[in-house]
Amino acid sequence: MLIKPFPKVEDVHAIAIPLFGYSDLITANVYAVGKGPVTLIDTGPKFPGALAFVQKQLKLAGIDINDIERIIITHGHLDHFGLAASIRKAAGGPIECFIHAEDKWRVSSEGFQEEMWSEEAQIFMAMVDMPQREIEKVKKRFSFFKKLCDPLDNVSIMEDGAEFVGEGYHLRAIHTPGHSPGSICLYESRQQILFSGDHIIKHITPNPLMEIKRDRLRDPNYQSLKAYMNSLDKISGLDVRFVFPGHGEYIEDLDNIISTYKVHHRQRMDLVWGALKKKSRPLYYLIDDVFPYVPEDDVFLAISEILVHLEILINEGSAELADPGPPALYRAL
Ligand SMILES: [Zn+2]
Repeated sequence: MLIKPFPKVEDVHAIAIPLFGYSDLITANVYAVGKGPVTLIDTGPKFPGALAFVQKQLKLAGIDINDIERIIITHGHLDHFGLAASIRKAAGGPIECFIHAEDKWRVSSEGFQEEMWSEEAQIFMAMVDMPQREIEKVKKRFSFFKKLCDPLDNVSIMEDGAEFVGEGYHLRAIHTPGHSPGSICLYESRQQILFSGDHIIKHITPNPLMEIKRDRLRDPNYQSLKAYMNSLDKISGLDVRFVFPGHGEYIEDLDNIISTYKVHHRQRMDLVWGALKKKSRPLYYLIDDVFPYVPEDDVFLAISEILVHLEILINEGSAELADPGPPALYRAL
């Protein structure tokens, strides 16, 4: 057993798919909700054998794949929707899939076919001064990730406040942008369960990921960390018995975890500010001070983390863009 078993909740079955080799995430969690026709929350990635694993776990809960009437995807990342197309194909009848409008493009064939390494990405890499050899590594990792999911078309759009009601459940979508612009949580009001996707995770602090494809955003001024913090406030104070996250163990004390996240981001902002204060330099070279031990595979994540914290420092007036470059040069104030 990789994680503590989920508490028994009527009409909610948790399936924790082990993510070997992705130790940070531990598991990808799928939830089957409802008595009769079942709603699936997320699907996990398309690992070899993943479909058989999910089907087997559903069977153990007394659910047949043909009982699934809809899939709600908490956000458009492959570890949450990767298996959706396979489940649809394997099921007898039609399954309606829902995703928030702002993440729809990420799962679509159109999004998949788009030049994976866009001109925007190239400009961005020049802006942060990422060396070519690092860029090649990131590209390789991205194309590997693409193998872990199938595109998902014919999806239905859900917006903040969308409700899904069936026998034994009443779910409400809460738009919680930050980890991605279209991230949502689902609140089940009868049993006070919050399905939190990657907005709330117990063992790691979710990354509010930077958005390179700015033209895909509804709000051109969208900033991931700022949105993320607002989304934390949006769910704090909810009457929640258990949080069922997209990865790892369930959570009992939502408000406590929200306060630890806030402290964490404040500390990280101070760390970025301190690095800048020591020496103004392009973003890529700030990694030396902010994440000196970052694993090779996570350099892109490190850049994302520094950038989203830098955006807040600039908003607050404690840093500025001294030279737009490329490469861009920031300065602590
Ligand atoms: Zn995830």
